[in-house]
Parts: sequence; C-alpha cells; structure tokens
Amino acid sequence: MKALLCTALGAALLLAPVGAAQTRPAGPPAKPKLVVLVAVDQFRFDYLTKFGGQFKGGLKRLLDSGAVFTNAHYEHMPTVTAVGHSIMLTGAMPSSSGIVGNEWLDRNTGKQVTSVSDPAVKSLGVEGRGGASPHRLLVSTVGDELKMLGREKAKVIGVSIKDRSAILPAGRMADGAFWFDKPSGSFISSTFYFQQFPAWAAKFNESRVIDKFKGGLNYDKAAESNPGNDFVVAFAEAAIEGENLGRNGGIDVLTMSFSANDTVGHAKGPDSPEAASITLHTDKVLGEFFAFLDKRLGMSNVLVVLTADHGVAPMPEVQVQRRMPGGRMSEKTVLAAVQSALDEKYGHAEWILGKSGPAPYFDHALIASKKLDLEEVQSTAAAAVRKLPHIARVFLREEMRRGLAPSDFVGTRAQNGFFYLRASDLIVVPEPYWLFEEKGTSHGTPWNYDSHVPVIFMGPWIKSGKYANRIMVPDVAPTLSQILEVEPPSGAAGRVLTEILR
Ligand SMILES: [Zn+2]
Repeated sequence: MKALLCTALGAALLLAPVGAAQTRPAGPPAKPKLVVLVAVDQFRFDYLTKFGGQFKGGLKRLLDSGAVFTNAHYEHMPTVTAVGHSIMLTGAMPSSSGIVGNEWLDRNTGKQVTSVSDPAVKSLGVEGRGGASPHRLLVSTVGDELKMLGREKAKVIGVSIKDRSAILPAGRMADGAFWFDKPSGSFISSTFYFQQFPAWAAKFNESRVIDKFKGGLNYDKAAESNPGNDFVVAFAEAAIEGENLGRNGGIDVLTMSFSANDTVGHAKGPDSPEAASITLHTDKVLGEFFAFLDKRLGMSNVLVVLTADHGVAPMPEVQVQRRMPGGRMSEKTVLAAVQSALDEKYGHAEWILGKSGPAPYFDHALIASKKLDLEEVQSTAAAAVRKLPHIARVFLREEMRRGLAPSDFVGTRAQNGFFYLRASDLIVVPEPYWLFEEKGTSHGTPWNYDSHVPVIFMGPWIKSGKYANRIMVPDVAPTLSQILEVEPPSGAAGRVLTEILR
C-alpha cells in the first residue's frame, strides 16, 4: 500500500507543470456566477445510452462537453423522490439528513407526514393549500454553505412541479422554493421563505405564460406529461430574471427538477414510446434553457450538474416476456401478514399506525401497554413477512439500530437509509423486479435499476470526458463545495470527484 502511494505521489509530481504558480495560463473564471442543478425525476442512466443518438439539445450538449459518470449510484434505500432530491446538494444519506422517505409516521404526533409538510407555515401564491418547508431536513445544502460563509451575496432558488423536489435541494436558507399547484395552474410557495409572494412570480402566474405549452390539456394532465417540463423551464427563466440570478455579485444557485418524467415512467414503463418521447422532450427544453443562459450570462459563467433522484424497474409484464424474473404483489398482503401474525400471538389489536410503502410503523404505546418486548414483536412480524413469496429481505428496526444489517450492498444501502427516530419497524426488500404496485411500475428498492442514475458536470472548471469509475451521488455536493470554495455540507458522506477538476 505504501509503495503504491509513493508511486502515485511520484507520478503526480512528475506530471505537475513546471512553474505552474508563476505562469498560469488563462483559465476559466475563478468561480461560477450561477450553479444550476438539473434533476430529472426517474431517469435511468441507460436513457442516455438508449436515446443518446437522437439527442439534439441540452442532453447532447451535456454528453458532448460535460464530465459524464457512467457508474454513479445511490447507496441508500428507499430510492424515492424525497430522498434522492435531499441528497443531491447535501451529499447526506438519510441516516444523517433525516429524510427517510416521501412520507413516514411522525412518532411525536402519531401522524403520517410527508418529507416537506409543515403545518406551521402557509401556502403563498394560492391560499389555503398545505404548507410546505424543509423543516425536516437536518443538514445543510451547498446553497446553505454559501450563505453561511457570507463571503459574497448568494441567492438560492428551487423550482419543480413537486413541492419536495423544489424544497429539498434548495435547503433551509434558500431565498425561495416554488412548485406547481395543479388546480390553479400556478407556481406557489410558502411563508417559510417570505411573508409576501415575490412580485415577479405573481406576474408570471398572471401572465398565463404556461398556457401556450399545455395544448388542449388541463393543468393536471399537462403537468404530468411533456408540457410539465416546459412549465419548469419557463418558471426557472422567470426566476433567473426576477431574482437576477448570476448577476448578484457572488455565486447564485438554481435547482430545477423535471417531475413529469416520473409520472410518465410510472404509468408506461421505461421501455415505452412515451418514456422515449419525454426523454427527447427533456433534451429539447434543456437545449432551449441552455441557450437562454448562454444569451443572458454566458455559459462560461455557469456550472451545470445533471442527475436524477432514482431509476425505475421495467414493467413486470415486459420482464416475464423476456423470461426474466418479476411480478406484482400487494403492500396490503405484507401489512395483512403482519397484522394477523401479531393478532395470533398477542391477541387482536390495531398494531399498525402508519406506513412508508410496504414498511409498517407499529403502535409503540400499545406494545408498551401490553408489556411486550418491541424487538420480539418486530421479530414475530418479520417472520410472517419472510414467508410471503418474493420477499428478499426483512430488516428489524431494533437490529438496524445496532448496525446489524448484513455488510453486502443491500444491507449497506438499508443501513444508509436508516434514521432511528423516523424508521419503520420493518424494512422490506422485494426480490429484484418484483413490485408492490398493482399497475404500472415503480422504484424504491436497493437494486441497481433503481440506484443507477446519470451524474454529469459541465462548465469551464470541469475536465470533460467519460468516467467509468464507480461514484455515488453523495459525491456531487462535496465536489461542488470544492469548486465554490465553501465548506462541505454538514452531512456530506461522499468524496470530492478530483478526477474531473481542472
Ligand atoms: Zn422521483
């Protein structure tokens, strides 16, 4: 090992340019004026290899001039939207960030909550919607670090169709996060960020600029298909103009997440013509967006990162035709097996208080009142679930607390996704290609089709090319911190991707 290190060091010294400090060639601008995170909701890495030949717009530009990681994975489960988006600019696993799912049971209130639901704040833009904020996110984002450093002004804005996808990448100190309200066809926000809805955003909503994209569809359908991505780009451009992003004298951050790809993928599957169509549409709108940035700021001042929050499984029916494993089972079957096993052993009661997918949250007060041992109850329930067909693994919360998941990649991903106070009593992993959905397809498992996503950096600070080494999405945030010269976010678990830095 020592010898290896010496050799590597020797090679590095040999490669270092002589007199680099004195005669540094004219390089890129010291730092970006704007960092743009582009998240595509449910984007398998292989969409790039499968449809890449047809790209003409922004995805082509990213593939041609960016640093493209071909082996980037998430290293946690469940691989769902809130968790993926919480990782992109925090670099933090759910075990640190506290974002353990799209929804979970809040043990303090006994109520089911979402990753961003917040009864302490009110909606703005349209009144009377549920309040939402990043108050459950326990760690900092790259944007938060820029602001905490206070070296220069930094504005941070998040935009998406989904509230969680706008809120979680932007972070707690963000100047605003905006998401789409389907009934009104408007982008809205919450009093977490400001007491008054920004004038530029109100003007955008009043202008009905998005109506020209929606064709004959209503806002619901439009937001969940190709036009939804036009909505996000149109609003992001309005945000850049309204907040003067990239021209505030420091480094600004814009996060944008395309949600429609996820809705289409769930309904039609990754092998459908619809998945191809929305991928090509994403390429087109990103091309238009980059052209906008180029004209306004010059792309040489912009650092772009593209990634996805998770992949997706093929349709089970398609898998069966391929002679591959796969099929459907119901969440209800899992929950019913738990209920009846606990009834049988301890007497009838309402054991299950909440759920996150197929993962049940038990009534701990009830278990305590019956003077039962919590781990033994979990063990009884787990034994019943393990007897069901096509269940690969069942982990117990109390075992996970002691770090007892097996050390293979499935166990590691479960452990990285585990945050005790918010964890379900059982963590259930189906066999590869098996789904808990009755129709369509989904994601959420630790299997690689759910964890393998694109990671592409583009900008003058980046060495373009293809990188086949294994990285994880939590490496993105510390890499950005390095380029921007700010602290790594508080929970960042990854490394700096030094191989791409110029
Ligand atoms: Zn998602």
